[in-house]
Amino acid sequence: MEQVITRFPPSPTGALHIGGARTALFNWLFARSRGGKFILRIEDTDIERSTEESVKAIIDAMEWLELSWDEGPYFQTHRLAVYREYAEKLLGSGHAYWCECSGEELEKRRNAALAEGRKPKYDGTCRSKGLDRAPNRVLRFRTPQTGTTILKDIIKGPIEFENSELDDLVILKSDGVPTYNFAVVIDDLTMGITHVIRGDDHVNNTPRQILIYKALGAKLPQFGHVPMIHGEDRSPLSKRHGATSVMEYKRMGFIPEALLNCLVRLGWSHGDQEIFSRQELIEKFSLETVGKSPSIFTMEKLLWLNAHYIKENSPQELTRLLKPFLAERNYPEKPDHFLAAAIHTLQPRTHTLVEMADAMRFYMVDGIEFEPEAAAKFLTADMSGVFSGLISELSKLETFDEASLEPVFRNTAQDLKVKLGKIAQPVRVALTGGTKSPGLFEIMEVLGKEAVIERLQKGLKYIETV
Ligand code: GLU
Repeated sequence: MEQVITRFPPSPTGALHIGGARTALFNWLFARSRGGKFILRIEDTDIERSTEESVKAIIDAMEWLELSWDEGPYFQTHRLAVYREYAEKLLGSGHAYWCECSGEELEKRRNAALAEGRKPKYDGTCRSKGLDRAPNRVLRFRTPQTGTTILKDIIKGPIEFENSELDDLVILKSDGVPTYNFAVVIDDLTMGITHVIRGDDHVNNTPRQILIYKALGAKLPQFGHVPMIHGEDRSPLSKRHGATSVMEYKRMGFIPEALLNCLVRLGWSHGDQEIFSRQELIEKFSLETVGKSPSIFTMEKLLWLNAHYIKENSPQELTRLLKPFLAERNYPEKPDHFLAAAIHTLQPRTHTLVEMADAMRFYMVDGIEFEPEAAAKFLTADMSGVFSGLISELSKLETFDEASLEPVFRNTAQDLKVKLGKIAQPVRVALTGGTKSPGLFEIMEVLGKEAVIERLQKGLKYIETV
């Protein structure tokens, strides 16, 4: 069996978006699942709109998602000689011709055609003029004017196109730069691409590309056009629906596994399974189970997946992922084992790394402030005895863990004849500043004896001054 070779060929005219990332993922997974090769190619022939910054942004996003490529990045602008060589072949075999129609003239004819209700395609003025290369001339592909072209799409099934509907498209512009439909064929052909998996916004380009392959006597790759991604209102995903760039999701505190898992389910399914590890995806991915209708991207699902991966990840790995978010908040530095222990308490209750970094505040900052409302409600005069009792009993502890803390609280409550439940919130406010946090004993164990006693003393001082 021939080796599978797929490619991801973004145009570097902006960031990597959710749709592009899904296409990259499907190509990557298909190659990895078949022991194949995955190529990254930068389609930068639109020189005015392509930027180095976008190339970098795309590569950063691919690296963040760990979609590794085996070859490339190739740049189309470095391959102009290859396109010219193939253009010559088409010219030589009569499948291409030079055209001298000016932009102005074409525009006029276009408008006339539209006014008469005709399809505004190239009218073939230069088709049989036998012109030579000259400045200001473009090279056009001689599209067959009769017959049909069939796209056997792996995902959509066969689609038939009337050749008469297709234009004699420009393949080389007058500056010698190829147009998309030509460059993509030559690249896919010379790079040995076996499977072209891309968004179905390209379906109408494919018959044009198939005709170029045929004119070159080349073997066709297999095509699979993946349905678009929609937002919750069932319109194509766009900025209106919120963040669209992959790296925005990174900044919002999503972890790559969660985003990948969310992306793969946009179109592909495996029974009703929702959670897939990368390895499992490689084992299970296939193009046959990609659906035919648009898939819906929802933030709710992504948050759910992210919470899942935060819960499942090791505290050590999360420490690594969380550090940049902690640094952004200018928290004082803490040792990794402390961070991991603190993170462990927050794992079951956070959806994003941003949320987690915010929730880490009371662990990281020494002089926490009390939220005014929480303090007013819970740090009340009647708690003074409880606080001093706890401070003196906790000071005697040699081990400071959940098992040793629980009896101290129980006994103090009993001695002072207050309900255990009445103690928890005031202590929580003293330790964390607010009323929401992981379990009290858990956070005390992480904070450690010294910090706990210091915070309770500060709480007591507050109580005594109100
Ligand atoms: N540069 C094209 C795009 O970004 C590639 C399309 C293709 O996969 O052929 O849409």
